[in-house]
Amino acid sequence: MSTRRWIHCGLCSALITASKETKFYHLSCLDILCRPCMGKTNRGTTCPVCNNPISHFSELCNSMSRREKMLYHAFPAGLFQMSCQALLFQQKHRQRLVHTILKARDTMKRLDALETQIQQQIVQTQRRKTPGSEPNGESISLNAHRLVEGN
Ligand SMILES: [Zn+2]
Ligand SMILES: [Zn+2]
Repeated sequence: MSTRRWIHCGLCSALITASKETKFYHLSCLDILCRPCMGKTNRGTTCPVCNNPISHFSELCNSMSRREKMLYHAFPAGLFQMSCQALLFQQKHRQRLVHTILKARDTMKRLDALETQIQQQIVQTQRRKTPGSEPNGESISLNAHRLVEGN
């Protein structure tokens, strides 16, 4: 881990050194304090920089939580790039899903049209086969008409 020249104590402005002879702490209020200045936190309860209560603090080291470590990432631009990639990746898959749904909807529409067409053909065939029973044929025709109107 290279030295990040911006990491300093929020109270005395001491910079973190490569040798890390002085320990630094990351506070829950997102302030940073060096070990000597931690003595001014009223036993780790109040931040002397922002005066907010401290719910937790951890030593600046590799065993910090993932979330805390992210704040100290050496290449925030790289993080941004990764976020962009994740965004594009997720967007691509969402679009694909939408496309599939739209396609399925289109297929349903075509099936409905086909069903209506078949219904009409059945009515026509029945009419041709039974020219004497006009009322029956007419009622089927009316039903088919209602089916088309319902859509
Ligand atoms: Zn300090
Ligand atoms: Zn603070």
